[in-house]
Amino acid sequence: MVPTKGYAAQGAHEPLKPFSFDRRDPQPRDVQIEILFCGVCHSDLHIVRNEWGRTIYPCVPGHEIVGRVVKVGREVRKFKEGDLAAVGCMVDSDRVCPNCRAGLEQFCDQGATLTYNSEDKHAGGVTYGGYSKSIVVDQDFVLRVPDRLDPAAAAPLLCAGITTYSPLRKWKVGQGQKVGVVGLGGLGHMALKFANAFGANVTLFTTSAGKVADAKRLGADDVVISKDAASMETQQKRFDFIIDTVSAAHDLSAYLGLLKRDGALVLVGIPPEAVPVNVFHLVFPRRQLAGSLIGGIAETQEMLDFCAERGIACDIEMITIDKINEAYERMLKSDVKYRFVIDMASLA
Ligand code: NAP
Ligand code: ZN
Repeated sequence: MVPTKGYAAQGAHEPLKPFSFDRRDPQPRDVQIEILFCGVCHSDLHIVRNEWGRTIYPCVPGHEIVGRVVKVGREVRKFKEGDLAAVGCMVDSDRVCPNCRAGLEQFCDQGATLTYNSEDKHAGGVTYGGYSKSIVVDQDFVLRVPDRLDPAAAAPLLCAGITTYSPLRKWKVGQGQKVGVVGLGGLGHMALKFANAFGANVTLFTTSAGKVADAKRLGADDVVISKDAASMETQQKRFDFIIDTVSAAHDLSAYLGLLKRDGALVLVGIPPEAVPVNVFHLVFPRRQLAGSLIGGIAETQEMLDFCAERGIACDIEMITIDKINEAYERMLKSDVKYRFVIDMASLA
């Protein structure tokens, strides 16, 4: 066993606190990683507070992991001791179902094993995530971190990055298209960077008037304050594609109305509550409403390599782990520029 320190929540209304547990000894195909940095995703907050209703306690969150390989199993060829490596939202899947074969392990027919709060098929019990000092993962679910990426700024690419990159690629967003990004948080700031890098004309929709200058620096051509009805009215039927990263319930019909014929509103934010939709906004100009979940392992590697090539990384605010509960409160107030990353060296 690999004794590991981390931070866990013991209940939905409990703050995260130090917690010790064991990782499995590396098996022949496993990679043992000393975690250097872990990003703080809004999903961590949803799950810690049981907002999606499926949390098993104690819960060690964290699925934006970058670290150093400290040990590999005897069949591991992809990594060696000393390499930088990354782990995202999944640590296993059945590998044989049609979805896994298509490189879409996140939709594995048996259910992908998520990095935390999932059934641990190796060790029993539940998986524990990256707010911890070490992790042991099958090599197929470990990503290479290109040398040109800063390891701390790369960590949030493992969720915020792939979750926005994947739908932009799937819907073939590119030059000549008008793209909207709703919400400027961890996911939203990466959506701006990618949509801009793919050559689209990009508009940010935000509730925060104070984020306008940052949005332009991050890749937005225009910014619309979504609470201003008159500004929203001027945007009707102008967009080919809108990606919605908002973490709380809000009016989707307001964004459907901004799409052209055959335009798509793709939801990646997952509000805990059901959200009503006015079907008229869909059927008339034949608009699409869709969702998207992270991305497969091969696409995650493609995204990391793309970021290295294009000099793209996350804008981060580094915190020590004892500030995690405060960071959650700030995230709820949209007060983060634009992703908290935990420096795991702060956990003695
Ligand atoms: P975040 O950093 O907190 O950003 C969310 C942004 O949404 C905020 O910065 C704010 O932007 C906007 N917002 C928040 N509350 C709002 C409200 N009541 N009305 C309108 N806008 C609001 O969160 P994140 O880490 O980017 O995650 C966003 C969502 O994506 C979460 O629900 C998370 O669970 C989900 N997620 C999904 C996937 C997936 O695979 N689909 C992966 C990761 C995360 P402004 O200040 O600009 O308005
Ligand atoms: Zn996430």
